Amino acid sequence: MITRVDPRLRREAEEFGLKFTCESCAHFDPEPRRCANGYPTAPHCAVDLAVAETLLFCKGFELG
Ligand code: SF4
Repeated sequence: MITRVDPRLRREAEEFGLKFTCESCAHFDPEPRRCANGYPTAPHCAVDLAVAETLLFCKGFELG
């Protein structure tokens, strides 16, 4: 699901410590930086909400 990043999302993500990137996911293998489920990680890695205009949430995300 693609979500537009607006000031409210930025504020709430900061306030509640929202985790959503591969780096915070239980399925992420940090070496060699790949998804254990074989999903493409590029849209979900190292997302900076301060500059991102949209956010593509991964349906497979599980907090690691
Ligand atoms: S399941 Fe999704 S969020 Fe988790 S590592 Fe794979 S691509 Fe990234």
